[in-house]
Parts: sequence; structure tokens; C-alpha cells
Amino acid sequence: MLVDTYGRTATDLRVSLTDRCNLRCTYCMPEEGLSWLAKPDLLTDDEIVRLVGIAVTSLGIEEVRFTGGEPLLRPGLVGIVERVAALAPRPQISLTTNGIGLKRTATALQAAGLDRVNVSLDTLRPDVFKTLTRRDRHHDVLDGLRAAHDAGLTPVKVNAVLMPGLNADEAPDLLAWAVEQGYELRFIEQMPLDAQHGWKREGMVTADDILTSLRTRFALTPEGEASRGSAPAERWLVDGGPHRVGVIGSVTRPFCAACDRTRLTADGQIRTCLFAREETDLRAALRADAPDEEIARRWREAMWGKKAGAGLDDPTFVQPDRPMSSIGG
Ligand code: SAM
Ligand code: SF4
Repeated sequence: MLVDTYGRTATDLRVSLTDRCNLRCTYCMPEEGLSWLAKPDLLTDDEIVRLVGIAVTSLGIEEVRFTGGEPLLRPGLVGIVERVAALAPRPQISLTTNGIGLKRTATALQAAGLDRVNVSLDTLRPDVFKTLTRRDRHHDVLDGLRAAHDAGLTPVKVNAVLMPGLNADEAPDLLAWAVEQGYELRFIEQMPLDAQHGWKREGMVTADDILTSLRTRFALTPEGEASRGSAPAERWLVDGGPHRVGVIGSVTRPFCAACDRTRLTADGQIRTCLFAREETDLRAALRADAPDEEIARRWREAMWGKKAGAGLDDPTFVQPDRPMSSIGG
């Protein structure tokens, strides 16, 4: 098992498949000038499947989430999902994506063994989408969402980040739309993980702001701590249910004490936290022909060093050098 000195166990593995993306969300990437990981530094499909295999068979990982960058840009994605679904014990497999291209691939991904998707969509307004992501692809995301739903990748979850002056007023509209479409909406507080280091604590839209805004139109009943478990989202029943809405208050309501995650970057580094400043290089071990037991030992050692918390609200907090797109969100 992967355990740390605070008694937490990691059962949820996030795997970044690429640091590249076809959008340029302002809270994630600069418009231009971000250099990509070099191709030889990226793990190959075989290397990814081997590491996930070790995590699942020797380290107690029960859930694998593929992310990036944009994971749909990885040519071998369907094959990777298929091979991970064939592992024993079979992990739950999910995908976090911006949804562009999902229209074409949702059915193949579901057939390969993908269980669920989270699609990121911050606005219902195409013009705001274009400003926020710097690309005119709103329609493609809506199509991707519908395709995921129709392919049975349910419950389809939608992730939204609210940005002051752009879409901060859209929380109730997004929720009304999600309820109507049958998607489960989760708001994520903006975190200091943008490549350009432009995040400001003062300007951000907080979980409290989001809840206040939602309550102007909906009655929200907390589902309670018991249902949150190790999940980062606090969830509320909307108008008595059955629809729910989640709010991930990574900055103002941190959930580090219940964290059950470990992360693998596209270039084969283990990170115990999005905000970790240290990494453990498994790619070097893989390419030096280390046996599975040695790789598992390094992974356990990394987990043992996991810090108590990210400390985002602490004035001494230092943003990690790697941006979210390179760590895997
Ligand atoms: N490209 C895919 C997508 O957008 O879903 C997967 C990678 S993206 C980094 C994963 C999630 O992180 C998305 O839901 C995105 O909105 C969120 N995200 C990116 N930068 C963020 C930031 N600075 N604060 C909070 N969430 C962020
Ligand atoms: Fe791309 Fe996702 Fe980052 Fe947006 S949040 S730029 S879609 S990686």
C-alpha cells in the first residue's frame, strides 16, 4: 500500500498523458511561449501501462484517472485504457478532458473500458469561452459532452472554474443548464498553478462566493461530511435532489487531511501533491531496467514523504515550478 506518515493511504492515481493542449485557458496556460516536454522524455504507452500495473497490483491503487494537458491528444489513449482495464484487479478508470474530440472518441473509449469522464466547461457563452480559453471551440465541448452522455460514460461531470470579470456571474446559469442536461456540475476554486504565475488570492472567486450566488436561485442542502469522504468536492442537493452540485474549495476549504491521491506526470515523475516541490523519478528507474519491486519501493518511499498539506492559504506558500498542464490536473 501507499501510506504516508500522517496515516493517509493513496488509492487514487492521476496519470498525465501529455502536457500539450488545444486550448489556452487563462488560469492554466499563457497565450504562447510555453515550451512542451521533449518527446523522448515522455513515457511511452508501454511504460505508462507498466507503471499503472505496478500501482494497481502491488500498491493498492483502485482508481486511475487520465488527465493532462489534454489527454485526448494522446494518440494511444484508447489502447492505454484498454490495457489498464485488463489489469487485475481492474481499477475504476476515468478521464478529465476539455471535451474537444470526445464526439469522435467517446464510444471507443467506453468500449475500451473507460467508466466516467469529467469535462471542463466554464461558461455557457461562446464569446466568454473564446476569451477564457483563447480558442473558438465552445460548440465542440458541448458536442463532446453529449457524446459522452450518449456513450454511457455516466454520470458525466462538468468542471467549472469561475474567473472574476469573465464568468463569475454564471454559477446559477451553469447549474440550471447542468440540471436540465443531466450532468453533475462541480465548481473548482482557481488555484495558483498557472504557468504564468498570475494567480492572486485577493481576486479569486471563493467557494463562499459560489454558494451565495447559487442560493439566489436554488435551495442547497448539504450532503454532509460523511458523503464527502476523501472526495475533494463538498456536495449539495439542488432543490431537494436528486440533482447535486459540488464545490471544490482547494484554497479556502482544503481537504488535504483526507487526500487519497498520488500523481504520475507525463515524463514519469511521481508527485504526492499538485503543490509538491519534490518529485521522484520513476522514468530513470524504468529505463535502467529496474524490476517492479524496486519501482514499487521508490513509489512507497515518495508517498512516505508526503507533506501534511498544500498550505495555499499560508502567506509562506510558494507556487510549484511546474504548471497544472504539466503536472496533470
Ligand atoms: N485539459 C483537461 C481539462 O481541461 O479538463 C485536463 C487537464 S486540466 C489541467 C484539469 C482541470 O484542471 C480542468 O478542470 C481545469 O479547469 C482545471 N484547472 C486548470 N488550471 C486550474 C487552476 N489554476 N485552478 C483550478 N483549476 C484549474
Ligand atoms: Fe488545456 Fe485543460 Fe489547461 Fe484548459 S485547463 S489549457 S483545457 S490543460
